[in-house]
Amino acid sequence: MRKKSHELQWLEIAGKRKQLDEEEQRALLRLQRGFLGEQQMDKLVESFLLGKVTIIDDITLQYQSVIVQIDKILIVGNIVYIIDMKFYQGNYILQNNSWQRGGKKLPTNILDQLRRAVRVLENIFKEHQMDVQVRGVLVFLNPDSNIEIKDNISERVLTFNEIPSWLLELNKQALEERYPHLQSVLLQYQIEAFRTKRQLTLDEEKHLQKGICCPRCHQFKTRQNKHKVICSCGHEEVKAIAYARTITEYGVLFHDRELRLKGLKNFFGKDLQEAYLKYILHKYFIAIQSTTKKRFGHENKGLIFDYWFEDDMEYFKRLEHRKTWK
Ligand SMILES: [Zn+2]
Repeated sequence: MRKKSHELQWLEIAGKRKQLDEEEQRALLRLQRGFLGEQQMDKLVESFLLGKVTIIDDITLQYQSVIVQIDKILIVGNIVYIIDMKFYQGNYILQNNSWQRGGKKLPTNILDQLRRAVRVLENIFKEHQMDVQVRGVLVFLNPDSNIEIKDNISERVLTFNEIPSWLLELNKQALEERYPHLQSVLLQYQIEAFRTKRQLTLDEEKHLQKGICCPRCHQFKTRQNKHKVICSCGHEEVKAIAYARTITEYGVLFHDRELRLKGLKNFFGKDLQEAYLKYILHKYFIAIQSTTKKRFGHENKGLIFDYWFEDDMEYFKRLEHRKTWK
């Protein structure tokens, strides 16, 4: 499953509890569009690529001191395609090793990130004495973008409309699998994805909207009974899930600290049932004891509910029937 970047998770949660400033709003929109684009690409790959292909989505690799984040990898036989996805809008020209947009030169080379990733993978395969070809593919997912490549470059550059025919082309390649362990070699170098550097200011933290946010209408007009949280919009949520979900929202916003009871109490606001919060923390979150021994916290994965409890979704689904409990 392709996941939202940590920055996108942070902005979406923050946007429900405070007024995003202009820069944050722009970033949120850009990341949301980008995520939709990436999901579209995933769907295209799924529907057009028919042969025996290994797909790795969204991976961060470290080789020696170099860290690269890769949107998508396709392993087709003996060839590894590294796909870098952009959702840029407008007319782009690459000429004399310089990118231009609307007649103006861009300060950076859009291909740099991709080229770094290609080099890293080439080095990894070399180190493992594997004769694998690594090819870079730059994909412009925005249908409103025009790309003109005047230089002779080794990377493949695709616009949205060109993706299906490129994928169909891949199907024709001979699929002799020379290194069945290719994926596991790459995964040896995987590291955790970057967390956002965004943080709330003290003032923003103080004025943050408190309480349980309704997952349907995103308002805070919820009330709790024994087993569920009921919103004025009519939506009902199992209370255990609503509490665990709200704890993870706190975790995303304050991803740089442990989960602490004091902060959580403040975050839940006046309707908090403290004993229930403690019960949920104990049941679903991992306690960590700091060296000072007196202060207890809980592990903060800094992820939204669906990702935090990725492996427990079946369990939480089974709790749904509690909504009928009296
Ligand atoms: Zn609601």
